[in-house]
Amino acid sequence: MHLYALLSDRIMLKIDALPAFSDNYIWLLQDLEQRRCAVVDPGDAAPVEAWLAANPGWQLSDILITHHHFDHVGGVERLKSATGARVLGPAQENIPARDLPLSEGDSVEVLGQRLRVLEVPGHTLGHIAYYQAEQQWLFCGDTLFAAGCGRLFEGTAEQMHASLSRLAALPGQTAVYCTHEYTLSNLRFAQAVEPNNPQIAQRLQEVSAWRAAGQISLPSTVALERATNPFLRSAETSVKEKIEAHEGRVKRSPSEVFAGLRTWKDSF
Ligand code: ZN
Ligand code: FE
Repeated sequence: MHLYALLSDRIMLKIDALPAFSDNYIWLLQDLEQRRCAVVDPGDAAPVEAWLAANPGWQLSDILITHHHFDHVGGVERLKSATGARVLGPAQENIPARDLPLSEGDSVEVLGQRLRVLEVPGHTLGHIAYYQAEQQWLFCGDTLFAAGCGRLFEGTAEQMHASLSRLAALPGQTAVYCTHEYTLSNLRFAQAVEPNNPQIAQRLQEVSAWRAAGQISLPSTVALERATNPFLRSAETSVKEKIEAHEGRVKRSPSEVFAGLRTWKDSF
């Protein structure tokens, strides 16, 4: 899947997914005019090196990191020493070879695009996301997934719920570039939570067909996530009632409903 954007200064940016490991994607942003590129979360250097080898004359200018897990930073040092690329990553985490530590509200320019930094703790405590407001791109690592969300390795359910609520409040057309191809199994869980949600049923059918054909299911959009991602829907009565029935006890707040969903999904 290709996404082109015509920018104000007429530079064309293209975003592709480089598959890594069994289900990771390394997002590759390409400035077609200047032949410069940037990558998000290169857990493995090899797919990026292979792309650069197949595309001579291209320069890797930036490496963007969302959080410290190995499947997101494993390729950083090799890529930086081979290309001299600048490494951007969360200030509050240990990121190999990081040049620019980033915190909430920071704004950085990458390939002529202004990216805003959002702190989204939950999966890890220092996890950040990158948002491009004009193009409406969101690079959100392992926080928001298509039809799901990251596991709570470091943060609390309350923190993750607050982080996801911030992302859900972005404009509906925002393209969601997350790091893993988990969409199909996430949708099976979504359907167990909301068996009567027609948009979930439709999306499950669509994504099943794409995956059977070997196609990527990303990027998603914020609007589609609001409609089909149970972890963004903990304020819905049907979702609240479902988790209450599943656990056999009453939930007081959307954040408690979210916590129940996350626990259920962990053993689904
Ligand atoms: Zn992770
Ligand atoms: Fe990951």
